[in-house]
Amino acid sequence: MALPVEEWRLYAARRWAALEPALRERLAVASLQDTLRLGCGLLRPEVEAAVLRQLCRRVPAGKEPAAARFYREEGNRRFGRRQYGAAVRLYSQAASHELPGSPEVSVCFANRSAALFHLGHFEVCLEDIARAESHGYPDRLLPKVLLRKAECLLCLGRLQDAANALSAVENKIAMDGIMTNPAHQTLLKKLSQLKIKIHKKESCPQPAREACGDIQRDSEFWEENDSISGASSSLSLNFDMERGRHLVASQDIQPGQNLLKEEAFVSVLCPGEGLLLQDSSETPWDTQVTNADLYCHRCLRQLLASVPCRGCSYAKYCSQNCADVAWERYHRMECSLGALLLTLGVFCHVALRTVLLAGFAEVSRLVERSHDGDKDFHNHEARCKHPSEAPDMRTGTRGVPGCNDNGRYQSSYQAVFNLLPHAEKHSPEHKFLCMLSVVAVCKQLQEAGLEAAVLNQESSEKWSKPEACEKTSGELSPELKIMAEAMLRHVLQLQCNAQAITVMQESGSGDGAVVNKKPVRLATAFFPVLSLLNHSCCPNISVSFSGTAATVRASQLIPSGQEIFHCYGPHRCRMRVAERQQLLSQYFFECRCQACLDELESDVKSVVSVRNSFRCPSCRASMQVGEDMLCCSNEACAVSVSRESLSRRLQDLQQQIKKALELLKDRKADQAIKLLLKCQMDAGNFLSPEHLLMGEMEDHLAQVYATLGKWQEAARHLERSIEIVEVHHGPSSVEIGHELFKLAQILFNGFAVSEALSTIQRAEEILSVHCGPQSTQIQELQEMKTCLLELPRSILQRT
Ligand SMILES: [Zn+2]
Ligand SMILES: [Zn+2]
Ligand SMILES: [Zn+2]
Ligand SMILES: [Zn+2]
Repeated sequence: MALPVEEWRLYAARRWAALEPALRERLAVASLQDTLRLGCGLLRPEVEAAVLRQLCRRVPAGKEPAAARFYREEGNRRFGRRQYGAAVRLYSQAASHELPGSPEVSVCFANRSAALFHLGHFEVCLEDIARAESHGYPDRLLPKVLLRKAECLLCLGRLQDAANALSAVENKIAMDGIMTNPAHQTLLKKLSQLKIKIHKKESCPQPAREACGDIQRDSEFWEENDSISGASSSLSLNFDMERGRHLVASQDIQPGQNLLKEEAFVSVLCPGEGLLLQDSSETPWDTQVTNADLYCHRCLRQLLASVPCRGCSYAKYCSQNCADVAWERYHRMECSLGALLLTLGVFCHVALRTVLLAGFAEVSRLVERSHDGDKDFHNHEARCKHPSEAPDMRTGTRGVPGCNDNGRYQSSYQAVFNLLPHAEKHSPEHKFLCMLSVVAVCKQLQEAGLEAAVLNQESSEKWSKPEACEKTSGELSPELKIMAEAMLRHVLQLQCNAQAITVMQESGSGDGAVVNKKPVRLATAFFPVLSLLNHSCCPNISVSFSGTAATVRASQLIPSGQEIFHCYGPHRCRMRVAERQQLLSQYFFECRCQACLDELESDVKSVVSVRNSFRCPSCRASMQVGEDMLCCSNEACAVSVSRESLSRRLQDLQQQIKKALELLKDRKADQAIKLLLKCQMDAGNFLSPEHLLMGEMEDHLAQVYATLGKWQEAARHLERSIEIVEVHHGPSSVEIGHELFKLAQILFNGFAVSEALSTIQRAEEILSVHCGPQSTQIQELQEMKTCLLELPRSILQRT
């Protein structure tokens, strides 16, 4: 997903292999500027364009009337079956394929408003009605929609507005003359019913609603750092040759303390699984939902009724405002490149959006400065020693790369630009692939007539459609070459500095009362301040996201002087040291964190291998690991089994579990339980009781019982799962927090009041450390608590 599609990677590899050896050697040591210069000379524009055109066909991102029809009809079918949620999504798909301002798109919005009404989303329904009206909804159909508007307003308690909407309908009907057809008769009947409802409500005014939200949430204590934007004053920015830039605690930090809040400099939504896997031989349009349909392409908020892009069918937004801002800042340049950017992967897309957001002036300033730096590395230091620019002794950060002239490190393009690209450490072949890709993007910008827009050199009619430019020599202009060079730098930086924005997404059937959430990668972003943190396999912070903003909190006590560590992915609780080191090699360093040192040097076994171990199939003692064979640790038994046969057994077991989950999806809960219990029996014969899979099975059983409303059984199984998660991740880990959250829901649903309250308490304590008191999960927990405390005494005493 991050890198280009496989076919393009293979094409680049073939081109690389076919180059003259001498040229390959030159490219291997070339600077970014020279890589680009040499590369541009090598390009065969027609060949590359043809290869990419072919690949882009698989990810159509343009508007297609036939697709719109398909989705609208599918939406109507679902609406007929009262599957309103699915209908909303399908009408959104349909709208994304219609032209703005067309009657067709207004019909999509009107239909969607009906589905939203049934789902009880009255506010959003009103927005859709307004959209339908503004996009030219056919006049003769208007009364029905206006009536829905009145109903919505009524449901929202806005009586005067509802009455006004009703008189508008009446006027409309009166103007259209006498109506005799039955459809209008029903309309009139409904109209009079609504009038009565409004009248009744008016005559018995409801008590003014209590001002809720009286539990005023203190905004968290926060004192900003003088020299690092968005960071707490208890951190300091240090720099040394070994560790590079890094953050250190300048005073003792308490668990849960807020250390950093940063808005992404740039982020690009990941299209999600499935989008590129589509087989072109299947139906041309897919009703499968991906990230691209679920989240706003600008602010990453969850979408209910999306606003489509005016130009493509791919980009969707939470509001007209997001659509307009995205369009102005970057999407008008990206829109016609949709398929190409999907083909070349998210890193290329982030690189492009980064330079678009920075603007040509800033990009070329920094690119040129970097050329000077390449020529004379000492220049910079010499300048710094000049008396008028002596290092600021107070902050001591002036010499740190990426800081501005006042010695302040800010989330800016300058900071992004100064993230390390490690140009000399990437394989030359990889650099070649990245170079081909960014040049392809710039070529297409040029061919689409977008060069002026990209370089911020547009004349007044900035909203007019770009004219396709006359086919020039195919050579990139010097300005676009500068943009391409910066993009190449960013693509290379992303390998080490890309930060995934993740959210907890609901998974599974979704109809159970217990929401099963798992973390999903939503977007890829640059966070220049967050990027200052080095990696450890046992980090001392947690990162959580809200929209495109990241918040970092201490997950444990951090004594003054200790470095702040982020985990880039390989965590000691999830992987063995060898696996971790292998994954970390992409960041060009060898991890020397405490967990790695312990496991590498003192023969301490990894927590993962100890806990995910096998047990003897014959006597159930633990198995000792040898090369290819595992031997029973019980000398009297002496059974030995090949590693291969055990892992085959494990795979079979995973297959069976998957089958059970499919049964659950098909609402065959009883069969799912049967199969899961059988799996558990099987697993008990060869897996250690703490094996993660044992926990997963308990978790699945809890989920099945919850869908059946058997809360006690569900709670019992979940408690077992929690014990195992605790062994793996520790009692105050965020993983335990999520499990306790689920348990709280189950106990809440089962009216186990006192247990629910104590579980809520534990979940709150843990989750507020990792995610903060404002997170949605904490708020849901507090709602549950309020609800339980308000229950009548009689129920409370029963439990
Ligand atoms: Zn948005
Ligand atoms: Zn677009
Ligand atoms: Zn490590
Ligand atoms: Zn044995």
